[in-house]
Order: sequence, then C-alpha cells, then structure tokens
Amino acid sequence: MSLLGIVHSSGHITDNIIHVDLEQYNSFEICSAFLIITPDSHAILDCGTSNDVPTLLTYLTSKHQISLKKIKYLIPTHYHFDHFGGGWSLWNQIKEYNPDVKILTTSKTKKQLQDPELHMKRAYRTFGKMIGEMRSIPDKAFKIVNPNEEVLLPGFTDTQSLSLVPSPGHCEDHVCPTLFDHQKTEFMFLGEAAGTRMHSQNLLTLGTSMPPEFNYATYIQSLEHLIELNPMNIGLGHFGVIKGTDNTLKLMKKNLEFTHRFRTYVKEKFEEKNETRWIVEQFIENELEGRVETSKTDMRFLTRIIVALVYGQLIDLGFRDPR
Ligand SMILES: [Zn+2]
Repeated sequence: MSLLGIVHSSGHITDNIIHVDLEQYNSFEICSAFLIITPDSHAILDCGTSNDVPTLLTYLTSKHQISLKKIKYLIPTHYHFDHFGGGWSLWNQIKEYNPDVKILTTSKTKKQLQDPELHMKRAYRTFGKMIGEMRSIPDKAFKIVNPNEEVLLPGFTDTQSLSLVPSPGHCEDHVCPTLFDHQKTEFMFLGEAAGTRMHSQNLLTLGTSMPPEFNYATYIQSLEHLIELNPMNIGLGHFGVIKGTDNTLKLMKKNLEFTHRFRTYVKEKFEEKNETRWIVEQFIENELEGRVETSKTDMRFLTRIIVALVYGQLIDLGFRDPR
C-alpha cells in the first residue's frame, strides 16, 4: 500500500471485505468488485460483464475458499454492463449452490436490469463486443429495498449494518453499497460516484459518463453527501481501493473540483468550436497530465472514455440531443 492508501491488488481490505480485480477486457486494473464477509453469509458487490463472472468466481473460491452456498446477496452499484452486466449469469450460477440467493437492489435498478436492450445497443456503439451479454432477469431473482434502508446480513455483529446510499448523477439508479460499524462508515463502494482512477500513484480521477445519462447537478449533490459520510475505506468501480479517511476525502473532494472544472472546460471549448471530436482532442492533449498515466494506457480505449465524458457533458449542457 502506498502512502496515499492506494491498493490495487486483489485480496482482503479489512477482515470483512475482499477486493477483486475483474481483469475486465483481459486487462488489469479496469474494474473492481467486492465481497462482504460475515461468519454466516456473504454479499457480492458488482460482478462486471458476463465475461468477467468466471474470473470473479474462480478468484473467490480458489484464492479465498469462499463457499458459494453462503452467498446471500448480489448487489449492483448500478445497472451498466461493465458493473452488473453479468448479474443474470452470476445469479444463475450461485443459485445452484444457494437457491435463495437474491439480487438485492432498488426498484430503479431492477427495472433497468429487466430491460437492458437499449443500454446494450448504445454501449455496443462505443465498446463493441467487449460488453459481453446482458439478459433480462426474472422477478423472483430480486429482493427490493429502498435507498438508505438498513439491510442486515446474517452473521453481522450488533453494531454492523449495510445500506445502499443513493448516489444518482453518473446515472439515475446509482447507489453506493456501504458497510457501517459503530455508526462509522467502515467501507463505501463508490462505483462510479467519484470518477475513474487512471493514475496509480495519486488520488486524481477523471469523470464518469455513459451518455446520455450523466446529470451534473445530481452528481455533485450525491458526491457532497458521500463526502459527509467520512468513509474510512472506499472502493472504486474503476478502480481499486483507497484506505484512510484523509485519503478518501481527498480523492472525493478532488473529483468534485474536477467535475466542476471539466464542465466549464467543455462549455468553453464548445463555444470556441462546436465539434465533439475537437473538444476530445483538446482535452487529451492538454488536460491529462498528472491524471492519466498515458504511457501505461491504451490510447484507443482512453479516447473512447473521453468521448463518452465529453458527449455526456454536452448532452447535459443541452448542446447535443441524446441518441
Ligand atoms: Zn456506469
């Protein structure tokens, strides 16, 4: 672990939490999932695309001897293909071991998971075949909870609880599954609520966007609320873990600043020249330093991400129509 509390490797974060690099798109450090452990039960948080589910299950069972019978809940941060696109496959596989396993989520995410066609069509345009397969999930797979409702996992101590903290902005249904202990925020899975980390040595992040869903106002509001919860440890969907409240707050506050600056940047560039591709090129040329390790990054992949960021922002600014 670095001085800034940055953890990239798969493994235990605390006694109760395991971090998993899903090795998404056959690369390391793209997408994270987590496991919450109690003596009596487990919950899996996110699972990646349908292609990532075997990686996740092999890692948990062979490295940590996790019994699939004890998996009680599968919990998505949001419905996007890269975070819970493989949810249907995971549920199908786990129910062979535990017929009562449920996808624990809100009614908003359930609705999206049951109707993934338009999302997959849009995602395919940007990411092609890498998105795997998403299938509609039947009603009986779900246990619906309200945002912030207290969820008790069998085996929790008297002082532990779990809830899905609402964090819309990246998309409307986004939540942060959060483990509380002694009224402190022990671990918060941020999903995409505080940006994407593309630098291994510092706490600076890029934005997150899957056009046309990004909403600046709610994103900012959500992030301000998450900061108030003072998490001791955070997990990021993309990617890894930050330990220590000083570090977690620094990352989240820096992302808040970045999100504001990025919006201003896109707006100013748009006024200079109404051309998405040009704005993307300008951003890549001038704004990545210290934020993205370009030498370690597949530039084609990065460009797709920046296109999504810029385009998402342009739609939210009202400068482009959602397609
Ligand atoms: Zn997403």
